[in-house]
Amino acid sequence: MRHTRYGWWLEEAGEVVPTAPLEGDASADVVIVGGGYLGLWTAWHVLELEPNADVLLLEADLCGHGPSGRNGGFCETLWGEVDILRERSGDTAALAVCRASEEAVRGIGAWCTKNEVDAWFREAPMLRVATTESQLGSWDSKVKTCIELGASDEIVSMSAEDMRARCASPLVLGGASHRLNATVQPAQLALGLRRRLIERGVHIHERTGVTRLHRDGRVETRGGRVRASAAVLAVNSAAAGFSGYRLSLAVASSHIVLTEPVPDVLEELGWTGGEAIVDSRTLVHYMRTTRDERIVFGWGGGSMGFGSRASTRLELDADVIARTRESLVRFFPQFRGREITHAWGGPIDVSPTHLPIFGSRGRVHHGFGFTGNGVGPSYLGGEILARLALDRRDERTSLAIVEPARKLFPPEPFRYVGGSLIRRALMAKDAAEDEGRKPSSATSFVASLPRRLGLHLPR
Ligand SMILES: Cc1cc2nc3c(=O)[nH]c(=O)nc-3n(C[C@H](O)[C@H](O)[C@H](O)COP(=O)(O)OP(=O)(O)OC[C@H]3O[C@@H](n4cnc5c(N)ncnc54)[C@H](O)[C@@H]3O)c2cc1C
Repeated sequence: MRHTRYGWWLEEAGEVVPTAPLEGDASADVVIVGGGYLGLWTAWHVLELEPNADVLLLEADLCGHGPSGRNGGFCETLWGEVDILRERSGDTAALAVCRASEEAVRGIGAWCTKNEVDAWFREAPMLRVATTESQLGSWDSKVKTCIELGASDEIVSMSAEDMRARCASPLVLGGASHRLNATVQPAQLALGLRRRLIERGVHIHERTGVTRLHRDGRVETRGGRVRASAAVLAVNSAAAGFSGYRLSLAVASSHIVLTEPVPDVLEELGWTGGEAIVDSRTLVHYMRTTRDERIVFGWGGGSMGFGSRASTRLELDADVIARTRESLVRFFPQFRGREITHAWGGPIDVSPTHLPIFGSRGRVHHGFGFTGNGVGPSYLGGEILARLALDRRDERTSLAIVEPARKLFPPEPFRYVGGSLIRRALMAKDAAEDEGRKPSSATSFVASLPRRLGLHLPR
């Protein structure tokens, strides 16, 4: 097994030649900090609105080599968050965000076709399954909310039998189907975007970390400075290191194992329709197939980060990979004896509301908090940030995820210590429920703390 920081998707997509770092002073209409999906889509949408805009993008490493090139490739809508959206913003606003997020998923598919980027975009429903009695019905309130909002097709309950007809894991006890979802080869998407942006004249400087961001739009790096009418902060979990954003997010991590091609196993499971699958834990397992008939199997239970501090364990964690591998075999006993070829991981920008957050501070416009669901929503985020940067207001900038009521995490070291304790409790709770035991009352209490404090952590 190759356990690396960047993972298989980026290997599959092939090497890129880095662009030149920024040296000296430069100017632009819009300067974008961060070359993941959010920064790249923002650049794209700026050019869609203002084809002659001068756009400059600064990336600390290589574009698309962060989580954008390493994720599970679930391209989801925000229907999974419909309850939270409704609770925070009401029916009309919740519906508007969910519908806009549908357009984002379709927009990505259309973009790939139009721009001839083969990112393996494949539309198929997402299945949310229960693997323990306690998880059964955990989707009921989402199904009910969809019905009440007049969108009864979006999330539909399914029996164990229906679910197993799509994927015959013996663990599956029932579930719900999310109508609109797609899977992608995430690195092909990120690098395809990078390529098309360079062709459209965006100045991309890689290996150029931004050290300071001023509210008037000035940006400083180790080797230079940029003066711009607007700056966009699109650095995912690193946002917690920028002044003004330190309490806005927490950093967790997610890790993936990848199997060798197993067409016979997929055939035996009947898992040939391209469905993405998540279980219903707080620290989810997520799984999907690939075009070359492998299984991608991930777990959102990696360790917490301290502030925005870089930590190897957020990307490479042998213990978490061993647990993820065990879970894969529990889900799919048919896989036993076959090979895991690759493993990797990366940081997750956890929003206190479980919803992405967009907004402005002076001439700096920000986006973060995708909480493990940024592939689809970052396209929408790019539409929003492009408008904020160009000072255009429309239905995108009035969505409820733009300038939402603020909710903050506690400062460090409390965030790290508290987050790590809660993570342990969630792991213990999940393990007890997997074994058909009731978690201890102390475990249940600590695991319930985020909810009691009004925080929505990763599923
Ligand atoms: C293992 C894993 C699995 C996941 N699975 C899924 C999934 O299946 N579906 C889904 O929707 N989401 C998933 N996610 C989350 C998803 O990958 C992210 O939400 C999404 O990629 C966020 O895009 P981004 O542009 O905000 O961040 P990133 O891709 O992290 O891009 C931010 C960029 O900013 C750069 N940067 C940081 N600091 C600086 C600085 N100071 N100066 C300049 N540049 C800087 C970084 O190098 C990075 O390239 C997963 C994440 C992980 C780690």
